[in-house]
Amino acid sequence: MILVILGAPGAGKGTQAKRIKEKFGVAHISTGDILREELKKNTDLGKKANEFMKKGELVPDDLIMKLIKNIINNDNSCKSTGFLMDGFPRTINQAQKFDEMLEDLGLSMHKVINIVVGEDELVKRLSGRRVCRSCNNICSIHDKDNRELILEGKCPECGGDVYQRKDDDREVILQRLEVYNNQTRPLIDYYEDKNILASINGSGSEEKIFERILSTL
Ligand code: AMP
Repeated sequence: MILVILGAPGAGKGTQAKRIKEKFGVAHISTGDILREELKKNTDLGKKANEFMKKGELVPDDLIMKLIKNIINNDNSCKSTGFLMDGFPRTINQAQKFDEMLEDLGLSMHKVINIVVGEDELVKRLSGRRVCRSCNNICSIHDKDNRELILEGKCPECGGDVYQRKDDDREVILQRLEVYNNQTRPLIDYYEDKNILASINGSGSEEKIFERILSTL
């Protein structure tokens, strides 16, 4: 099964991708996570990508396509288990190149899940988002049950330290949403025309949203 999970920043792609991965055993390929890892390791790719990421802009397509090609060509397990793209593609050019790549490999996309959330809610979620340094859990200061703990900087899942992503700063958030509207939103029509798009309401509990996703698969 080859899936793409689409949605604005803060729509909950990463959270739902983890659930889909657990349920179906597919590889979860998050370009944002991979680029942040590269930066942590201080690689050339990480440093180059960070110049764009910190401003809320997209990393150039050629760098992203090289990264995707490397993963898909070198990781045979993802071809056998199937994979879930999270945060990729983000431009029409990336989507077209990805289609060509899949065709060359004799693979085809099963479904594109588009998680829909209103803009006010996205800003609230992104500015309240925290990520665990130890287990990568994504949590929120708006989570009533764990608010105190998260504000103290602790992860409700593993007790590790949580941090706020640099690009979850308010000004960068607004820039990312504009970039999404201009460059990524057109992918909705692109995949609708191919008859593989399933749009779901991204408001409500994580469980409810996951149920909606399952009902489309
Ligand atoms: P994310 O974690 O998916 O929100 O991605 C964080 C940042 O990484 C984005 O704001 C972009 O700067 C960069 N990025 C991630 N995926 C892509 C992509 N497919 N194309 C271009 N830039 C990307």
